[in-house]
Amino acid sequence: MRGEIVHLDATWRAVLERHAYPLALRTLLGELMAAAALLSSTIKFTGSLIMQIQGSGPVKLLVVECTSEQTMRATAKWDEPLAGADFRALVGNGRFVMTIAPEEAKQTYQGVVSLEGADVARALEHYMTTSEQLETRLWLAADAEHAAGMMLQRMPGSSGGDCDTWSRAVHLTQTVTANELLKLPTREIIHRLYHQEDIRLFESRVMSFRCSCSRERVVNMLRLLGRDEVMSVLEERGEVEVNCEFCNRHYRFDAVDAEQIFAAEVVTRARKTRH
Ligand SMILES: [Zn+2]
Repeated sequence: MRGEIVHLDATWRAVLERHAYPLALRTLLGELMAAAALLSSTIKFTGSLIMQIQGSGPVKLLVVECTSEQTMRATAKWDEPLAGADFRALVGNGRFVMTIAPEEAKQTYQGVVSLEGADVARALEHYMTTSEQLETRLWLAADAEHAAGMMLQRMPGSSGGDCDTWSRAVHLTQTVTANELLKLPTREIIHRLYHQEDIRLFESRVMSFRCSCSRERVVNMLRLLGRDEVMSVLEERGEVEVNCEFCNRHYRFDAVDAEQIFAAEVVTRARKTRH
């Protein structure tokens, strides 16, 4: 079997600095971030892994993106007020969606299952079971400073004898508390849980917060929206403002900017026609 452990500190705080999330939502989003970091480590390609919880309750959407460069970003949509912290009450009967988007390939892979279980970890375990992936167990926790998690995966080709090993590993890991996950150094957690086991430790990797939005991408989006649409917003509000939901950056365009966006488009088109 293989195991992963993740501690997100600055990466998680970078998400929290950009939006004020209610407490209950913060826990869910932090746990989903830890889960995405854990899962992304098992995917061998250049591109990104996107996990979404699409809710039908007051929480409408939780989304976390993790790239093969170990950068992450996350955001959420919800309706106030959020009463209580019960997972099912917050998300209702939603869907768990996993998207794998390799950079090279044009096609993305997307798996969708109904939301099951009493928390983010159980919902993801249900996804893994339903989509016939490796048997996976998760332990997740998040507070205002840290998001952390552990994952165990049973490797293919396990024989009957390994069944005991798997059960023992799950049993040992069950004893980890949220507080230990959040506060203790990785090596100490591993020692506490598995000091009698034969384990092999691999090099750790560093995760960081990064949003892939840019003025150039927003310009492309405005071009897709079309000149008429953009000009009508300009007329109404005096400027066009686009807000990135992930990093909360504001992109502003005035009439002169807008003229340039569409003038550049005409030049590009003319060039293409000439070729
Ligand atoms: Zn952004």
